[in-house]
Amino acid sequence: MPRYRSTRGADLVSFEEALLRGLAPDGGLYVPDSVPPIDFSGDSFQSISRSVLEQWVGDEITDLDSVVTDALNFPVPLVPLGGGLHVVELFHGPTLSFKDFGARTMARWMSRFLDTRGEDVTILVATSGDTGSAVADGFAGQERIRVVLLYPKGKVSPVQERQLIVKRPGVRALAVEGDFDDCQRMVKDAFLDPGLADVNLTSANSINIGRLLPQMLYYVWAAHLLASKDVLFCVPSGNLGNLTGGVLAHLSGLPLRGFLAAHNANDFFPRFLSKADAAFAPTRATLSNAMDVGAPSNFERLKSLLPAAQMRELIRGESVSDEQTLESMRRVYEESGYLADPHTAVALEAVRRVNAPGPVAVLSTAHPAKFPETVREALGFEPEAPVRLAELWEREVEVEPVAPALEALRELLRT
Ligand SMILES: *Cc1c(COP(=O)(O)O)cnc(C)c1O
Repeated sequence: MPRYRSTRGADLVSFEEALLRGLAPDGGLYVPDSVPPIDFSGDSFQSISRSVLEQWVGDEITDLDSVVTDALNFPVPLVPLGGGLHVVELFHGPTLSFKDFGARTMARWMSRFLDTRGEDVTILVATSGDTGSAVADGFAGQERIRVVLLYPKGKVSPVQERQLIVKRPGVRALAVEGDFDDCQRMVKDAFLDPGLADVNLTSANSINIGRLLPQMLYYVWAAHLLASKDVLFCVPSGNLGNLTGGVLAHLSGLPLRGFLAAHNANDFFPRFLSKADAAFAPTRATLSNAMDVGAPSNFERLKSLLPAAQMRELIRGESVSDEQTLESMRRVYEESGYLADPHTAVALEAVRRVNAPGPVAVLSTAHPAKFPETVREALGFEPEAPVRLAELWEREVEVEPVAPALEALRELLRT
């Protein structure tokens, strides 16, 4: 089974070490030193997932069965839109985005390792969207883990805020009187603060290898359902973690035609794929805000997994504007009656542009009901909220206001 090395070094560590560290001590990201061949056996999402993960982490996680059935306990349906185009719906988890796959699985893996070590950790997350709620929900109630979430007060949508502040065991939500940059700065400062050295802080963001491994599973599952070795996967992308999951599955032997990385106006990666000298750019705010990333952190990992020439052969990139995103939501709804969220709509527009023959699987990363304002802008009505979302408004909430300063956060972390 693979060991892990930093993208900037050669030392090998166990999966446990890579998972608990997140970022390597030299600042690099962990990548596997080898990829095990995938065993495709199984006929349900859970059974296929179990056999894939067995090849990767089976020597260190002995109860994979219960991890998979407990963490991935929601359906992953494939919806045909006609003409070989399919949508793989990854938003049926508790917080209605694909981030549930990584967060829920990683939480259980972490909790098991910490239990054996007899250690406790506090996960500190600055969030403006899907990651925060997926981490809060995925890690809630896990032994030896507590979660502290920071979000900018008044700067997230009403649905997003509700998802962050509902009361969960072991989770504290802090409404920072500032913007998202303040939240990120406070988290960064807390990690470097000698006054908090004894708190054992860790992060759970998308650079953790523990979030990437579960993101291979739905590629394998979709290829299985389509019974095809020639699927083109179209991935709504920001930090490139979802895409990296697909690339790991492919390197593990999953046969497929290629990937289409669909980005919004934050188009570094499409620019890189079409010419050699692209540079990171400042982040721009768009309607598909979970993909607003000017400098994708997983790019470093992707480069170390695939030489640039091979990357350009396997992956194509497209950038879609907000106007085109709204237009895509309207077109798809009129043509097939399918209601896509803004992130999925970016991917559907990218697919339309490249006009690819044969089976195409568009990964749908969020439920449209998470973005009622944008759906209304595109289509003139609001999507019906699934039970999971509707019931949030019945639940108890708990949120603590905090000044945008490290001292205020330190105070709270010590109580
Ligand atoms: C996080 C997110 C993305 C982007 O995924 P990356 O792994 O960062 O590329 C796309 N869509 C939604 C809804 C997300 O929450």
